[in-house]
Amino acid sequence: MPPSRRTARQALNNKEGNAEEQQRPPPEKRKKSIDSYNYCTLLGIDAVPENVPTTWCKCHECPTREIPPKDAICCSMIRESDTELAENWFSFIGEFKGCYATHPKIQNLIKNKEELDSFMIIDGIRKMQIAEEGGRDPIRGYCFTDRQAGYRFACYRKITMLVHQRFGAENYVTTPACIVEAIRKLYPSNQCVVRNVEV
Ligand SMILES: [Zn+2]
Ligand SMILES: [Zn+2]
Repeated sequence: MPPSRRTARQALNNKEGNAEEQQRPPPEKRKKSIDSYNYCTLLGIDAVPENVPTTWCKCHECPTREIPPKDAICCSMIRESDTELAENWFSFIGEFKGCYATHPKIQNLIKNKEELDSFMIIDGIRKMQIAEEGGRDPIRGYCFTDRQAGYRFACYRKITMLVHQRFGAENYVTTPACIVEAIRKLYPSNQCVVRNVEV
């Protein structure tokens, strides 16, 4: 990794550390910053486009159905970015020309139900501890009656934690659409769409 990127990452970490100590913004402001954080910060651009660009997917694994522009993030777009978050992906995946969703690390992570079962237990304990210490993780946890939904939720959280080393409702990062699609094929939902999850 070039030193400049490392320095930038350290600066980002310091900034986040300081931000932690500041007071939390009101919910609407948080929601807005989360939305822009996801797409713009991941891809290093100023605004989410109004419409999904026609040639947005180059990996051929992203969904062909209509999805909101802020969720239309192909792994190829991440590969072409040099943001801190894109760098996280590069560190996790390494040199790989194929679609991220087909990488063995991702495939094993989303297919291995035993590992996901263990992750759900550990993650559930962590979330409970956070709640006991002051309720700073205001999400539902694994209270799903639908087992498939639980696995999808676990996949999104596990990927975000492993790739970006982040967790918490205010730190979620959009999972690339091709990986979301792979997860949804493995653990289908009857409901319309759950693309992102707060981690
Ligand atoms: Zn794609
Ligand atoms: Zn892809």
